[in-house]
Amino acid sequence: MKTDPQGTPGTSSAPGRNTALAGPAKPSNRSSIRPGNLGTVLRLLRDSGPRSRARIATETGLPKATVSSLIGELVELGLVREGAAEREGAIGRPGLAVEIDGRAICGIGVEINVDYLSVIALDLRGEVLAERRLAVDVRGSGPEPVLDSTAQLVTETVAALGKRGIRAVGVTMAAPGAIDLQRGVVEFASNIGWRDVAAVTGLRRRLGPDAPPVLLENDAKLGAIAESVVASAAGTYDLVCLTGETGVGAGIIANGQLLRGIGGFAGEIGHMDLTRSDDPCSCGRRGCWETVVGLAPLLNAAADPDDPVRDPSVDLEQRLTQLIGRAEAGDQRTLAALDRLATGLGPGVALLMNLLNPRLIVLGGHFAHLGGYLIDRVTRDVPERVLAPDAGGCEIALSTLGFTAAARGGALLALDAVYQDPAESS
Ligand SMILES: [Zn+2]
Repeated sequence: MKTDPQGTPGTSSAPGRNTALAGPAKPSNRSSIRPGNLGTVLRLLRDSGPRSRARIATETGLPKATVSSLIGELVELGLVREGAAEREGAIGRPGLAVEIDGRAICGIGVEINVDYLSVIALDLRGEVLAERRLAVDVRGSGPEPVLDSTAQLVTETVAALGKRGIRAVGVTMAAPGAIDLQRGVVEFASNIGWRDVAAVTGLRRRLGPDAPPVLLENDAKLGAIAESVVASAAGTYDLVCLTGETGVGAGIIANGQLLRGIGGFAGEIGHMDLTRSDDPCSCGRRGCWETVVGLAPLLNAAADPDDPVRDPSVDLEQRLTQLIGRAEAGDQRTLAALDRLATGLGPGVALLMNLLNPRLIVLGGHFAHLGGYLIDRVTRDVPERVLAPDAGGCEIALSTLGFTAAARGGALLALDAVYQDPAESS
């Protein structure tokens, strides 16, 4: 797996311009078949959609004969296939369009979060092959049992896909907090109580020597990668994905590139002092933004400790659905808790707009689930806090990926190895 610690390993499975992960679609050698050229063609098909050999030759600058050989090799590898006929111009023979295939391989993303472990497997086209979420008290369990459960989840998923003839090319773990990408270490994740946990080494050891390569990245950043695939299809390359869970973090995509910062801490907006609250935060300080807009303060305000919506052994989506039911029934306590959340969101969203001037802010996680009770208030509150007219042209949208975004981003990152070096990785 090739990653660039300064920039970002990037990937996109949607047509359109490259998003957070991909390198430029330039040939590495114009006269011979090289791994670089295989990747160039594969990334062009990913980013721009199906096209004929002739068009690929024109767009990459590679000779037509070279393109035909490259396509032949990619077909042999099972990564592309011939699709429908594509006519270029009014006259002449239509060429067969070549498109991404890759149904026999997958990338796996597995998310470790406060209330759950989740896994998702995507094929090379970004289609979901498998998906599962387990309610787990991650903070209460400690790292070793959680890594045991994570390994079991991955092993079962890999085995089930193997029975369908699908091979995993990589696994990316998503975790909250500060991540050392190179060492595969969760340096500090206050919400799950992890400090200096060698998660990649731990998972590799449990998966055994035949397991695919394992990576680790911050959950908000992976969520942003997944959202950038959705957004790039609509021509949006500057966006912020605001994850909503117990922790609240921002994944920032600027001009198609993921912003990590020097140490991978970029986007920790949940620990900024953006509220009048003096409540203690898991990080040891007081008044952090997530003490108002995080999942825990919402649930604590909405229900008593023995209420099922606060029971971490119950699936989070079920609990939020229950909460929505109460709001719809007019339950005053629930509505007051939602109102506090909606009011609290404005300052942070406005800060992101003032600081980054993105085209889009995507509200993910519990913000997305509860969006019907939040979006109008936030959209109304934010413009007056933003210096630029019309909020600088920024729109606020609810994520359509919900709690799967981070795991999806992980699966996309795992698949990026194939796009960078198809012959080696597939
Ligand atoms: Zn904090």
